Amino acid sequence: MKITAIATTPLLIPYKKPYYWAQGVTHGAAVVLVEVHTDEGVTGYGESIASPSAEAIQAYLEQAEAICVGRSPFENSRLIAEAYHHLFQAQGTCSAPRFAGQVLAGLEMALWDAAGKIAGRPVHELLGGAQRDEVRYFGFAQGDSPEEIAGEAKALAAAGTEVIYVKVGRGDALDLAIVEQVRAAIGPAARLRVDPNEHWDAARAARMIRKMLPFDVEMIEQPTNAESLAALARVRAGSPIAVAADQLVFTPYDAFNVCRAQAADLIVLGLHETGGLLRFGKAAHIAEAAGVDVCIHGLYESGITTCAALQVASTVANLDDGNQYMNHFLAWDIIESPDLALRQGRLAVGSAPGLGFEIDWDAVAKAAACHKSDTCGHA
Ligand SMILES: [Mg+2]
Repeated sequence: MKITAIATTPLLIPYKKPYYWAQGVTHGAAVVLVEVHTDEGVTGYGESIASPSAEAIQAYLEQAEAICVGRSPFENSRLIAEAYHHLFQAQGTCSAPRFAGQVLAGLEMALWDAAGKIAGRPVHELLGGAQRDEVRYFGFAQGDSPEEIAGEAKALAAAGTEVIYVKVGRGDALDLAIVEQVRAAIGPAARLRVDPNEHWDAARAARMIRKMLPFDVEMIEQPTNAESLAALARVRAGSPIAVAADQLVFTPYDAFNVCRAQAADLIVLGLHETGGLLRFGKAAHIAEAAGVDVCIHGLYESGITTCAALQVASTVANLDDGNQYMNHFLAWDIIESPDLALRQGRLAVGSAPGLGFEIDWDAVAKAAACHKSDTCGHA
């Protein structure tokens, strides 16, 4: 069983409506579909986020292809290590483990998908087996105005979602209006989390946390600049509300440093940050040893990543019950199965071979056309 080719296709999957967050407004999920072809006809699929440019990510993955061709898809760990060395360290770009993770995540996922299909087993079984049959997600309430966000939050809570999550960091008065109106809409029982996406400094975070206390916020996610471990640790030390680290943690080393500094009550981890499933598990295990839970991070991604994250998250003992979910932002997905609509905030862990999805090739063609025209996501 040998890898014969790595194919890449840039895609743009439009969102149903604009996505508002502290870093701006986003109109769609830009990704690069990665296909690992083998000499026995099995193909594995993954995706890398296409930031900052799909063509740039494709160029990196073309270099990785030269390393993978002729090798076994069961050499995942070694292939990714060699690709990282060749693409980054050997080129003098030694300090880019985070970007490297984003570039190589799609290849790592596709190698797992191929390995699972060849073995005829779901990937979670190759990783040691699932610790749970379903994963619980928060309800992500979106919109421009507090009224719009509160309306979505109310519907999510009414549908049985226990944890509601909203973006803030868009201005203090607007942030407080969002939190006040969302709390009023979801009632006292629902749990509420907010994410300022690094837009506060430590002093401002302390002030905003005090002002949010009457609205029973249970978690503030990455309030301060992700470059500063000290800032997050200072916020957490003085905060009566739990604090999560998100953009501060990409690698297992980051997870260790956050835990050692006691800078977070929760670590938000995505496959596109860690560089795939294996390092997601490693970072989660470090957090487990420190008594810190992890939750799945959502980013620009299709159901491919949702399914891949489900596979590895099901094996993690210290998985939080408020995982991030952005699949419902998509106007349409590029997988035809499984159905990834949340049922009371839950998704079942797939048992189909590989990562457990079937590609919808008509949708892939439509998303490839969207990327070329660059208009679908801005309609
Ligand atoms: Mg976040």
